[in-house]
Amino acid sequence: MKTSSRILHEGDDRTAQQGAVNPPIFHTSLFTFPSMRAFLDRKTAASPHHTYTRESNPTIQALEQKIAMLEGAEGCIATASGMGAITAAILAAVQTGDHALVVDSCYGPTREFLEAVMAGLGVETTYYHPDLDDLSDLLRPNTRLVYLESPGSHSFQIQDLARLSKQARWHGAVTIADNSWATPLHQQPHRLGVDVVVHSGTKYIAGHSDVVAGLITVGGSTEGGVLLQRVRQVAILLGATLGPAEAFLVQRGLRTLPVRMAQLQENGLIVARWLQAHPKVRRVLHPGLPDFPRHHLAKKQMSGWSSLFAVELHPPAGSNQRHRFVDQLRLFSIGVSWGGYESLIIPLLARTPAIAAQHQRLGLNDDCYRLSIGLEDVEDLIADLERGLAHYRLASS
Ligand SMILES: *Cc1c(COP(=O)(O)O)cnc(C)c1O
Repeated sequence: MKTSSRILHEGDDRTAQQGAVNPPIFHTSLFTFPSMRAFLDRKTAASPHHTYTRESNPTIQALEQKIAMLEGAEGCIATASGMGAITAAILAAVQTGDHALVVDSCYGPTREFLEAVMAGLGVETTYYHPDLDDLSDLLRPNTRLVYLESPGSHSFQIQDLARLSKQARWHGAVTIADNSWATPLHQQPHRLGVDVVVHSGTKYIAGHSDVVAGLITVGGSTEGGVLLQRVRQVAILLGATLGPAEAFLVQRGLRTLPVRMAQLQENGLIVARWLQAHPKVRRVLHPGLPDFPRHHLAKKQMSGWSSLFAVELHPPAGSNQRHRFVDQLRLFSIGVSWGGYESLIIPLLARTPAIAAQHQRLGLNDDCYRLSIGLEDVEDLIADLERGLAHYRLASS
């Protein structure tokens, strides 16, 4: 069966659901047992029973099976948010005295977690540039984690996932890749050798800006399911697992992921190309544009694009001019998330000196904006941007 068919039916058991076309929400914290034998055997692999929703629940399990299928993974753990997935995966991979190599373009709160929590637990982090293809000078004897994110959250740089995960494996380090941008439809990092994949299910996967969720998958190439067990144990002990009502909403969104992504990819590329040709635009950062750095690598390791990208405008006539065009937009809302049905825009501002330094390393400046293109008619979106940009005065004009 093709992916779009399997998304709809994987993990569903109509008979157990009494024919219900939707998997029911098992709105329960605990499960009871028909006998003492069933209770005592509950932790054995053959036990059909669930015990407690923090550990497992049929509604959540159905979602986990669908995501594991999509990623080509050995197993999946659904978490209460993308950050729940990221923090559980990192805590499962390293302990005190270990060293982590983390891509400089990673999602901001991931970095904050490494600095605010992991550093205090005695895990040292080195950040490496997303263009780096050879980690050998940075790998230390105690490097246990190589963290990847491709495309990156703000600058969309492409990392060579196969090459980097091979180096990490050779060194005995676990690889974790944040795959939120591409979704498992357009990129499957396990197939490129990555051990652990994390997602913000809040973004494209759920896709309707109505639920916060995260997903962790563990690839089959890790020894005998040890890493999967470890990640599951840590996620459960952190108490960061997803609730059944949220799992239902994520599955409802997931059913339309293939059709949404097809339309979003198209809308995103049309708007990106239109912006690229606009005289007030300096550059467009979209991995699907042929002149984007490492576009060929992006094409090789992804089978499609999403609709989150950045645009850099030529400098404004004065700093009071900056951002004014955003207030003219009617269809684009100002909002931080992405991957929903609606179009969004935010300025990529350097709020702190540390972020300013990072933006400089990644080549972003104060005239950069991140756009999440939604499912509105693309001509309406372009008309909206055209009107907004008409209100933007350049330094030279
Ligand atoms: C939003 C986001 C996350 C965090 O997900 P939440 O569901 O908001 O916790 C992680 N990685 C990336 C790239 C994101 O954009």
